[in-house]
Amino acid sequence: MNQIDAFEDVRELRRVEERQDTATHLLSGHRGRMMKALVKTRATAGLTLQSEPIPQPAADEILIRVNKTGICGTDIHIYNWDPWASRTVPVPMVIGHEYAGEIVELGVAVHGLAVGQRVSGEGHVVSMKSRAARRGRYHLDPHTRGIGVNIPGAFAEYVKIPAFNAIPLPEGVDDEIGAILDPLGNAVHTALSFDLVGENVLITGAGPIGIMAAAVARHVGARQVVITDVNPMRLRLAAEVADVVPVDVGKEDLADVKRRLRIEEGFDVGLEMSGAPAAFEQLVEHLVVGGKIAMLGIPEKPFLVDWTKPVFKMLTIKGIYGREMFGTWYKMLAMLESGLDVRKVITHRFSVQDYVLGFETMKNGTCGKVLLDWTCAAV
Ligand code: NAD
Ligand code: ZN
Repeated sequence: MNQIDAFEDVRELRRVEERQDTATHLLSGHRGRMMKALVKTRATAGLTLQSEPIPQPAADEILIRVNKTGICGTDIHIYNWDPWASRTVPVPMVIGHEYAGEIVELGVAVHGLAVGQRVSGEGHVVSMKSRAARRGRYHLDPHTRGIGVNIPGAFAEYVKIPAFNAIPLPEGVDDEIGAILDPLGNAVHTALSFDLVGENVLITGAGPIGIMAAAVARHVGARQVVITDVNPMRLRLAAEVADVVPVDVGKEDLADVKRRLRIEEGFDVGLEMSGAPAAFEQLVEHLVVGGKIAMLGIPEKPFLVDWTKPVFKMLTIKGIYGREMFGTWYKMLAMLESGLDVRKVITHRFSVQDYVLGFETMKNGTCGKVLLDWTCAAV
């Protein structure tokens, strides 16, 4: 080792020590190093807001002070404790994976991030052992573990994540938008799976993700964006968030809509965002020959498909899971900086003490995104 390298090493050591000092200082204000967290305490419906130890970051991890979190459909599955949740989620565990906050501690081996930096994070933790991960295609890692699903999550005052997963937030992205980057990322990943420029796009399902995908499709230059649902409130919200054509498929026929919009042969691209078998059937029916479908929606159970139709129509069907690591994040932040506006999809904001209200609002579907505020969690 030459003298310059040795000097750099000493300086790096000092920087690490300084960061540890700052972090200890920041944490020392928390009595007994405990925090409030939403915990699945028992293998049954519901969640408990209770005290938990503040997680200790390992060498390659960071500790984040959580400010805002978003309630996801996945969290509702866990709240309800449906068959999927009971198969998947270990108990007891802190849940939640949509969040924004501030770094308060860095593991000793972490470089390139700083205490005080505002961040969100990719919720899929990859193993780095698979062929896909070693090829840099992290989102295709079969050993992915989900924060708040398989490992402790972010519905807490503090969450630790691998530094690799941290997403620094630009100035223009506040904590509310930071807390919905995970589902916005689902929308962006799905919407950007196929070229939408000048294309007619059919989105089935006007949940928060479908609505945000509609806004993305508009932002990148689709010709017409039609969004379907059977919930009038969600269709109204879709039209408020983005310049789209909302269609209640319980009342209106998509064939009439196509005629009205001068879509002569069918939609070019379909984004399935409902998980409803009937919606998939409609996509196949109303897509052009050679059309493309990106499927994000998760059906509740297996369903029958008349495969002669996608075959004769020569459709391309692509499954989507999570976000591309980290391409989706770069595109998403760039689009937010260049005018993509999805804020109106956030319809409800609760303090974490009112989490039951938040979860019940999500359950009854009379909402877009529901946020929980953790800045007033300590009681
Ligand atoms: P959501 O449940 O809030 O929205 C789904 C919407 O579909 C609802 O508004 C519902 O009324 C509507 N719907 C029901 N039947 C319909 C029909 N026949 N035609 C049109 N719309 C219909 O869900 P979300 O949070 O917006 O997520 C969208 C989908 O993506 C869900 O299925 C969710 O489970 C899934 N998801 C997948 C991933 C992934 O990585 N693949 C990640 C997050 C969510
Ligand atoms: Zn989610």
